[in-house]
Amino acid sequence: MTATPVTLIGLGPMGHAMATVLLDKGHQVTLWNRTASRADDLVERGAILAATPEEAVAANELVILSLTDYDAMYAVLEPAAAALPGRVIVNLSSDTPEKARKAAKWAAGHGAAHLTGGVLAPPHGIGKPEFSTFYSGPRAAYDKHRATLEVLTGETDYRGEDAGLAALMYQLNMVIFWTSVSSYWYAVALAKANGLSATDILPYASQNMTGMPEFLSFYAARIDAGNHEGDVDRLAMGLASMEHVVDTHTDSGVDAALPSAVADLFRRGMEAGHAADSFSSIVELLGKEAP
Ligand code: NDP
Repeated sequence: MTATPVTLIGLGPMGHAMATVLLDKGHQVTLWNRTASRADDLVERGAILAATPEEAVAANELVILSLTDYDAMYAVLEPAAAALPGRVIVNLSSDTPEKARKAAKWAAGHGAAHLTGGVLAPPHGIGKPEFSTFYSGPRAAYDKHRATLEVLTGETDYRGEDAGLAALMYQLNMVIFWTSVSSYWYAVALAKANGLSATDILPYASQNMTGMPEFLSFYAARIDAGNHEGDVDRLAMGLASMEHVVDTHTDSGVDAALPSAVADLFRRGMEAGHAADSFSSIVELLGKEAP
C-alpha cells in the first residue's frame, strides 16, 4: 500500500519530529512554516516546501497542524480557506476543549473535517510505539487516516465524536504533568538550598512518583463511591503536613508559592467543614467553587 501524502503545518520541535518520521516512513510530505528556514533540512530529505498555507492545504487531503495554539491555526488557515473544502484537518496543537469545538465548527463551515489531537509524547517520543495520542471528532476521518496517525505515535486513542474530548483528555493529563513536575522543581530547589543535588535526591523523588499509581487507584474507587471517610487520612493532618513543607521552604530561603497554594486549598477545605474527612474531599470543594 502506498503511504498517504501528508501536509504538515508548523515546524516547532513537535512538527519537525513529525515531518522527520513521516519522511522516514515513505510519506510524501508537503510543509509550510511561518519561519521557512525551519524546513531546510527536511527539504534536503525530500519534503516539499509550499510557498503559502493555501498551497500547502491544497496539496493533500490530510493536513496536520502542529502549532502553538488554536489562534495560530486561524492565523494560518483563514487566508487558506479557499483550499479547505474536502480536507481533513488533524489539529495536534494544544488548547481548550471549547476552542477545539469552535474550530471543528469553523472547519465544517469551510467544508473540512476537524480531528482534535492531544499528543502525549515529547518530540523525541514521536515515531515511537510506546507513545500515544488522544483523538476526537468525525469517526470516519479518524478511521481513514488512522494508519498515518500511528506513524506519529504508535498508539492512538479515539475518544468520540465530540471535538472537545481529545483536548479535555490532554488537558487533564497536563494538569497532572505540569503540577507534578513543578513539585519536583520545588523539591530540587529545597535540596540545593540544603547542599544536596538533584542527583542526590533522584532515588527518593523517583520512589515517591512510583508509588502514585497505587495511591490513585485507592482514592479513585473511594471518590467514585462518594466516600471521603477520614479513616486513613484526615484533611487536618494534610494541612499540618503542608504547613511543615511551607515552613521548611521559607526557613531554607526557597520560594514557597506552590506549597502555600496547596496549604491554602487545604485551609479552604477545613473551613468548609472537611477537617475530619479524607483529603480527597478537596475534589468536592474544587467542583463547587472557584477562589
Ligand atoms: P512551538 O510553540 O515551539 O511551535 C509552534 C509552531 O507554531 C511553530 O512552527 C511556529 O512557527 C508556529 N506558530 C506559532 N504561532 C504562529 C502564528 N501566529 N502564525 C503562524 N505560525 C505560528 O511548539 P512545539 O512544536 O513544541 O509544540 C507544538 C504543539 O504541540 C503545542 O501546542 C504544544 O503544546 C504541543 N505539545 C508539545 C510537546 C513538547 O514537548 N514540545 C509535547 C506535547 C504536545 P515559527 O517556527 O515561525 O515560530
